[in-house]
Amino acid sequence: MAKKNNIQHCSFCGRSSAEVALLINGINGCICNECAEQAYHIVEEQDMIRRGSDKLEAQQAGTALAHFDWSHLPKPVQIKEHLDEYVIGQDDAKRFLSVAVYNHYKRLGQEVSDDGVEIEKSNVIMVGPTGTGKTLLARTIAKLLDVPFTIVDATVFTEAGYVGEDVESILSRLLQVADFNLEAAQRGIVFVDEIDKIARKADNPSITRDVSGEGVQQGLLKMLEGTIVNVPPKGGRKHPDQDYIHVDTRNILFICGGAFDGIERKIAQRLNTHVVGYNSVQNVSRIDRDNLMKYISPQDLKSFGLIPEIIGRLPVLTYLNQLDRKALRDILTEPKNSIIRQQQKLFMMDGIKLTFDEDALEFIVDKALEYKLGARGLRSIVEAVMMTPQFEMPSSGKKDFRVTLEYTRSQLEKANLAPE
Ligand code: ADP
Repeated sequence: MAKKNNIQHCSFCGRSSAEVALLINGINGCICNECAEQAYHIVEEQDMIRRGSDKLEAQQAGTALAHFDWSHLPKPVQIKEHLDEYVIGQDDAKRFLSVAVYNHYKRLGQEVSDDGVEIEKSNVIMVGPTGTGKTLLARTIAKLLDVPFTIVDATVFTEAGYVGEDVESILSRLLQVADFNLEAAQRGIVFVDEIDKIARKADNPSITRDVSGEGVQQGLLKMLEGTIVNVPPKGGRKHPDQDYIHVDTRNILFICGGAFDGIERKIAQRLNTHVVGYNSVQNVSRIDRDNLMKYISPQDLKSFGLIPEIIGRLPVLTYLNQLDRKALRDILTEPKNSIIRQQQKLFMMDGIKLTFDEDALEFIVDKALEYKLGARGLRSIVEAVMMTPQFEMPSSGKKDFRVTLEYTRSQLEKANLAPE
């Protein structure tokens, strides 16, 4: 019914032309702007599902483990060089990661042969304090390789309780990032953050068993080792008549990260026990006590509370160092998209040349150290310092702006970041 008493109404919601902003006339009815908009979203959603299903249908059969041409991929040295451009320090982690990723893609390219040698998956676990570059490393690698990449927090498994749901949503996200290219999604990288948060609380499983922690780990295990997961094309939402996409996780590379607070104590304990039981006093003195993290081994993860099956599925174990003063200073300016370069670009877009005095940068680092904010804090400190100039400079007509130590100090005092 489009017309009641000569007043036009929307044929969908029934509202009159007076009640809506726009009423579009058709041959036998009208549609208001809001219904048209809603209809557009429905069409878009359906189209997305159809696009996904079509693409996937074409791919489902037999493509799961299609041959992959890895020869064009960068070699480990090149991967590391690329990481060096974006991530400061963390040399060991970069090397381990470069090799693991390279091997992973070689594995995808392996020919089925008679020699019986089958390269196994090389999922990675990175241990290191928060804000030292774990996520940044994983993200940078995924970008370099141009593979679908998604980040998931391991703690969501605990909260939801039912793991299956979350595995689906992770993979659904990966599919969306891959624009529903199933083959690409199945070669993607998933970064599982805060893996340490699902550790069993105590080392002794028989006495203080933390069942939930272990249950969650079991769920994660399935995904790590490779399984077929039925994923609804559009994340989370399930329609009874909807075709599920069967995603094979066998070739998805999982990179896990966690701070594992206090793991140094486990490492120290192990090293001490070994040295006592072993032979020499020399070994004790050779241990770099300030840098225990570099001795991390799978046993320490077990002592921390990861179940052996999980540890077994994460064969590449590496660590990240706490960022020292020099590293923090370098992070400000050295990476290709460093915080300072980003600020300079923002100002340059207004035709303003932005410069920072060295002592101003040093002061920013001091503050990050003082507040124990690490690399993450650098950004908020720089933002606080640059708030006023970002507000005022674009309309000032000035062509350059220099950030001095005095200016930095005064801005930080104003910004309430300072403790006093
Ligand atoms: P986490 O180890 O907790 O995953 P992130 O990788 O998320 O830490 O780091 C947080 C932010 O700090 C990054 O976005 C980046 O700006 C900065 N950062 C941390 N570590 C480094 C590093 N080694 N080199 C360059 N930037 C870093």
